[in-house]
Amino acid sequence: MADVLTYVLHYEGQFNKNSLGAVSEGATRASEIGGECHALVLGGEDLSDQLCQSLGTYGASKVFRARGPEGLAQPVVDAMAKAIDEHGHSYALFGGGLLGFEIGAGLAARKQAGVTMEVTAIRTQDGELLAERPILQDSKISVSRYRGELGIIIGRINAFEIVSRDGGSAEVIDLDVEYSPWSGKATMVQRGEQRGADVDIEGADILVAGGRGLGKPEGFELCELLAGAFGGNTAVAATRAVVDAGWYPYAAQIGQTGKTVSPKLYLAAGISGAIQHKVGMQSSENIVAINKDAGAPIFEFSDLGIVGDLNKILPKLTEAIKSRKGS
Ligand SMILES: Cc1cc2nc3c(=O)[nH]c(=O)nc-3n(C[C@H](O)[C@H](O)[C@H](O)COP(=O)(O)OP(=O)(O)OC[C@H]3O[C@@H](n4cnc5c(N)ncnc54)[C@H](O)[C@@H]3O)c2cc1C
Repeated sequence: MADVLTYVLHYEGQFNKNSLGAVSEGATRASEIGGECHALVLGGEDLSDQLCQSLGTYGASKVFRARGPEGLAQPVVDAMAKAIDEHGHSYALFGGGLLGFEIGAGLAARKQAGVTMEVTAIRTQDGELLAERPILQDSKISVSRYRGELGIIIGRINAFEIVSRDGGSAEVIDLDVEYSPWSGKATMVQRGEQRGADVDIEGADILVAGGRGLGKPEGFELCELLAGAFGGNTAVAATRAVVDAGWYPYAAQIGQTGKTVSPKLYLAAGISGAIQHKVGMQSSENIVAINKDAGAPIFEFSDLGIVGDLNKILPKLTEAIKSRKGS
């Protein structure tokens, strides 16, 4: 059996984008090794037949639906282990994010399976899946191959593209899970609503990121105005230096201890380009940096560098984009 099981996170009737990327990738790779991609969802009555069936659009042929608490890792580990035991999946695939890391690690321990995290690409060879992961500050790619019955692949956020296929409808299978006693020891008291949490930096096509060079918290208004001029799927992001200083919410932090992003355009204003920041944004398609110091490290990995004062450049850029758009 060469089937792939993916976990799909959902909230208020919407599936998480990373999870849909994992289903799409799982479907493509499973078909290359003669298998199918299945999805597992966990939650309450909001998981209607219709909602679950819609995962077929992304390539899932079956959806295992377990009733239980959503948003915590351990119940999902129980449910995935049960689906794998009953069905014999060869791979478990996650789209990334903290929950994916927790579930993947827990599942690896439970099933004594090999696990690779921060995977950016999957390829097939001799009927197996190989996971590619950047290492040494993304300067090299390591390739993992799995021994044993199960291999666990955890993607980097946004690594897998969402692909919708016309007319797909998945078969929904209810999974009766007996949860481990420890799986109920943590309960979700409240889903966090962090200030700025509505900013989806991981899903944005354009990010306008600000750093200490903005000078003060109000400096972010320049970034917000520029983001507004771009419009569409644009968000404002930040470095750790400024979120630690309380200038901007943690939800917007990019980097080693923040989020990893790969937008189409990453515009960095007043950011030096420290390695801990770079690892979170270097896979952006286009990087444009504004910095008054021509020797700033960020210019070493920018596609376009503008040396100058952001207080002058950002407003001009905002006006230029507005006039180009005729707004
Ligand atoms: C364990 C660890 C984890 C970390 N994790 C992260 C992380 O996840 N994300 C992260 O971002 N950092 C992280 N850091 C911190 C990181 O090392 C840097 O300190 C931080 O990224 C610097 O932020 P910055 O670029 O905003 O500030 P600075 O390094 O102070 O850079 C400010 C830049 O603004 C420029 N500038 C100043 N004024 C202007 C102006 N008027 N116009 C144009 N340019 C101007 C300056 O030339 C300078 O290059 C971590 C550090 C450690 C030790």
